[in-house]
Formats: sequence, C-alpha cells, structure tokens
Amino acid sequence: MGTNYEKLLERISRISGLNRDELERKIEAKRAKLAGLITKEGAAQVVAAELGISLGEERLKINELVPGMRKVNVLGKIIRIFPVRSFTRNGKSNRVASFVLADDTSNVRVVLWDSHHIDLIEKGEISEGSVIEIVNASMRDNEIHLGSFSEIKKSAEVLENIVTAKIVKEKRISEFRPNESVKARAFVVQSFEPRFFYVCPECKGRVEREEEGFVCKVHGRVAPEKRAVINLVLDDGTGTIRAVVFHDLLEKLGFQDLESSERVLDQRESLLGTEWIFSGDVRNNAFFNELEFVVSDIEPVDLDLVISELEKGDKNL
Ligand SMILES: [Zn+2]
Repeated sequence: MGTNYEKLLERISRISGLNRDELERKIEAKRAKLAGLITKEGAAQVVAAELGISLGEERLKINELVPGMRKVNVLGKIIRIFPVRSFTRNGKSNRVASFVLADDTSNVRVVLWDSHHIDLIEKGEISEGSVIEIVNASMRDNEIHLGSFSEIKKSAEVLENIVTAKIVKEKRISEFRPNESVKARAFVVQSFEPRFFYVCPECKGRVEREEEGFVCKVHGRVAPEKRAVINLVLDDGTGTIRAVVFHDLLEKLGFQDLESSERVLDQRESLLGTEWIFSGDVRNNAFFNELEFVVSDIEPVDLDLVISELEKGDKNL
C-alpha cells in the first residue's frame, strides 16, 4: 500500500476538516475523471489544490515525492551531475541539464530546463557535493523538473546519512512509471522467440555487420560475441508489461541452446505461468509508445517468504 498516499490523506484531512471517506471519494472521482492517468497520490494533490489547500509550502523528503506533484520544495545534496545536453527545437537551440539529488530518505533525478539554472552548473557554482534547496518545482513521472518559475538556492545546511544507492521500488505493474527502477513479482504469460545481435568483445557495444566483417565504432574490426534477447509479457494481476530479458539472465529462466529453435520452443512453453521476482528499469519505448521493462535481475519466488507474508496478513498477495 502507498504509505505516501496515507500520509497525504492524513494531511489533507487534517487541514481541510473533511473526513477520510469523503476525501477518498473525491480522490477516486478525480482519478476516474482523468481515466486513471494519474496516481492516487497525484489525484490527492489535485483535490487538495481544488480545496484551496497549499501543500507545496512545506519542504518534503525525497521519499515523499510522487508523480503529479506541483510546487515541490526539497533540500538535498547533489551526488551526481550528468553532462549538459543541447538540442534544437523549432530551429532554436536549447539546453537541458540533470543531476541526482539525495537526502537521508532517498534520491531522485532532477532535470533543469531554465538557462539560468543550467548556467549554475556550467559555471561550476553548483557541483557534485553541493547542498541545494529546490523551490517550486514539479514532478514529471519520477523526476523533479524545474522551469523558469522554479528556484535553486545553495544551502549551508549539513546533510548526513545521504542515501546514494540506486532506489529500487517494489511495485505493482499498474503503478510502473517511466524512469524508475522497480522490483515486481509477476507471472510470465507470453514469451517470444529469441532475437540475436552482436557485440564488441572489448566494450560490449553493438557492432555493425559490414562487408569486411563486424565493426565496432570504437575498436574497429572485431570478432564479435553473439548475444540473445527475449521479450516476455509479465502479468501480476494489476497489469501487464513487455519485459526485455538479455543474454546473461536467460539461463536463470531455464533457457539453454538458444540456437536450437525446437529446444527453445519447449523452454518457452514451460516458462508460461511461472512466477518470478523481476528487477529492472521502466522506460518509455518511443517506437511502440508504451512502457517496457528492461530486466536487470531475476530471482525465484521464495515460497517460505510468501507464506510468512501471508501469515502476517499485511500484504495483498
Ligand atoms: Zn568496441
């Protein structure tokens, strides 16, 4: 269950004087109106705004941020800065910058669109290790986005126990959002034929097949390694998603002899209906215009754990 949602509900209820049932009805109605495109937390934010409640003035912890929030204020330490990128839109050149901001609860990617903010990075006025306060930003998916109405202020506050590890959220498939690392228990309901591609043995980058052989952009002509990728459809009862599983993980699912299409067919069949714990990154596949799940680890479902959770009764299984 979304504990953030619970916290939000409590806060809105306290400030508005509405009881929880009333509030939840409003939130559900808002979600229904937006055809489920918004999370419960996002809908709660919208309802709060409509009730004239400003939740945005308080500073939030990073683990309290949810997609759809506006007027986000946070304090954190920059733990990683990505190179500033340039792009052209409508014949005008633009820049975008991003970094990872951490506090003692979590970390989050922050994206800057305003040239004044980007200048702070390019001039080195803020850098890795800087503690900054962000004011009036908004959440787009799971990222904090800053526009020209947002502010970045350097802060003298000292932050301790910063969470630097990549945050993997345990989620239901229906709650997957782009650009987040997630872990989910799901059944394999479809499995497609393996596809093969070739990588450079040095850098593991893709190589191009040219007349004289395989060529890596960096290492030139190489004897490539053949790699397989299999697409699966996963279902956890709340939704389905296409998952992409690369070479090294296929063995965990029982795939062997990928070159033998007969054997692979058997293996694909026996995979159907099996349940696993998948970890990976959710991303937006621009070509199909849908979410896909790039799997980075697969674990078998631990039956003992499932049973003990059932006994505790604190999880919907
Ligand atoms: Zn290479």
